[in-house]
Amino acid sequence: LHASFSLIRRVTGFVSGAVCVLHDVTEQQKNENEQRQFVSNVSHELRTPLTSLRAYIEALNDGAWKDPEIAPQFLEVTQEETERMIRMINDLLSLSRMDRGVAKMDLEWVNFNDFLSHVLNRFDMIVKKDAEKGQEGEKKYSIKRKITNQDLWVEIDTDQMMQVIDNIMNNAIKYSPDGGVITVGLSQSQNQIILSISDQGLGIPKKDLNKIFDRFYRVDKARSREQGGTGLGLAIAKEIVEAHKGRIWADSQEGKGSTFYISLPFEPMSEEDDWDEV
Ligand code: ADP
Repeated sequence: LHASFSLIRRVTGFVSGAVCVLHDVTEQQKNENEQRQFVSNVSHELRTPLTSLRAYIEALNDGAWKDPEIAPQFLEVTQEETERMIRMINDLLSLSRMDRGVAKMDLEWVNFNDFLSHVLNRFDMIVKKDAEKGQEGEKKYSIKRKITNQDLWVEIDTDQMMQVIDNIMNNAIKYSPDGGVITVGLSQSQNQIILSISDQGLGIPKKDLNKIFDRFYRVDKARSREQGGTGLGLAIAKEIVEAHKGRIWADSQEGKGSTFYISLPFEPMSEEDDWDEV
């Protein structure tokens, strides 16, 4: 608490009153501390890939470039790490735009049912294409849909919402064993639609369930990094969902899998709202 105190004097010099102003600085202090912590986190997060890049480049420079076995491997690592750093910077820029409130929302009415099918078809297509090309190393998965037939009209920014679903779907793939089933559900209640995405992956410990939406928080740093993660995907998803006046949360059983839920406000259209053909 911060207090400032001033006396009110008359021109004659007599004190006729006093004003005491009390500021609650705790909130401000908290924000400043969070800001400092965030800058420190960003610096560490960028230093790690940079020091590893430096080590690989030094090794190449010291002669590894002549080794036809090692050189391509080292170059691949430097490329992957550079790409991850670019992803991280892009994620940070998106978050910064949202923090400053300059991320414009391009709202349009869409039938969430069709929209979700469109997003999921893309994921089906990726598996199909990988299988056709016989690509080794790409993770296989299948998507099971439990989606209501009901038309669900909601007002969303489709690019942003696609990013949310992409982030959660990619996590479901990243943190699951090969061949896992991802179940996507869509249902409605009186005033909200609920999207759920469940995987059969490694799960998330109870104590971490709320923290995974914090910037840079990971349950297992090494695993996230190995998967090319930035630790910002869920933080971005949360910002976007909340900008849509929705909610995002997760539930999980360690070793069995995780489910991510998103709810968005929804008003069922009544008969009277139907537009008459003119
Ligand atoms: P990252 O780039 O590390 O995946 P995210 O913000 O997307 O960053 O996720 C934060 C952390 O939450 C991850 O590092 C991981 O520990 C955990 N996580 C997210 N999704 C899942 C999932 N489907 N299964 C298990 N853990 C998950």
